[in-house]
Amino acid sequence: MTSRADSALWLKSGRKRPFCLGMGARRLLTLTSALLLAATACSQPPATVAPETTAVHPKKAKEGKNSHADKAADEAKADEGKADDSPQKYTVPFAWESSKAEPLALTRAFLKEAFEDNKTYMEHGPKFFSAFADAELPRATVVTCSDSRVQPQGWDETSENDDYTVRNFGNQLAGDEGSIEYGVEHLNTPLLMIIGHTGCEAVKAASGDTSKLSKPLQAQIKSLQIPRPTQGKNENQAWAEGVVANVHNQVAAALKRYGKRVQSGSLTVVGAVFDFRDDLGQGAGKLIIVDVNGNGEAARMEAFMAAVNDGPDAKGVKKVSKKDLQSPEDVVHSLAQVQGIVTREVSSASNDSPTAGHAH
Ligand SMILES: [Zn+2]
Repeated sequence: MTSRADSALWLKSGRKRPFCLGMGARRLLTLTSALLLAATACSQPPATVAPETTAVHPKKAKEGKNSHADKAADEAKADEGKADDSPQKYTVPFAWESSKAEPLALTRAFLKEAFEDNKTYMEHGPKFFSAFADAELPRATVVTCSDSRVQPQGWDETSENDDYTVRNFGNQLAGDEGSIEYGVEHLNTPLLMIIGHTGCEAVKAASGDTSKLSKPLQAQIKSLQIPRPTQGKNENQAWAEGVVANVHNQVAAALKRYGKRVQSGSLTVVGAVFDFRDDLGQGAGKLIIVDVNGNGEAARMEAFMAAVNDGPDAKGVKKVSKKDLQSPEDVVHSLAQVQGIVTREVSSASNDSPTAGHAH
């Protein structure tokens, strides 16, 4: 194969050309140009002469000399959902990688690790999987943020068939009511847990000017009502305050929807903040309970934690004999006396009642 550089040298050197002497000058020029072009095509490194196997987006390849404005317009059009469904549109990626930081290399690395991790996970064996193959039996419906830094192993190392998890930007009920209802009313989880987190970008976005966000993002965060921060708080404190406020709001929304279940003792709604930044000063990574059935007072949260950790033997928990508890309502009332966690009258509770269940 003759390289482009060799061809040029060969033409310049004036060496004897392999053409008949009777050739006209113009024909000679045409022929040498054709040869030069052929040589050029053959001189490229193999990786760049196989466009069908590279990840070059055909649409982008076609754009050629288009201006940036044209490209932006095209991308905007693509965003509008006008997908080209021609089979040639998406080619198979991973034919090459020029750097580990490029999107395709990162994608490949993630998938490679996912397959490896999955292989390891399969080592649990058939017995492990058959234990939950036929029935979904979670104890908790968990609503948390889609933030990549928030993962269930932060609070549950064995989440299989135990955590029914709904995730979205801002750990909210709005927009995912159906999924949440499935957990609470069909899977009958006794616990609905709403877990926000420090450093939440959804809370930050909802606290600022949303007018420049895309329509889907505006719609996603429109139900987040973040109050103005307390005066004198620094930026991180104000942000964390917004995160906690959002958790309280989501618990209130859950009580509005599922108040009857909470009153009957069949559901407890717990709001928590996963603080991987230690913005709340209780240790990085701490899962902090901030709301139980609409109660948020520090003393009550402490009493609740003691009851959770120590059960009926917890300090301050009044023991109740079983014969005093004739119905779930009795259990709720006796708990209310001790913990002040559930205090509303059972008879007043209904799904239409918006009361957040604050203690008297
Ligand atoms: Zn978040």
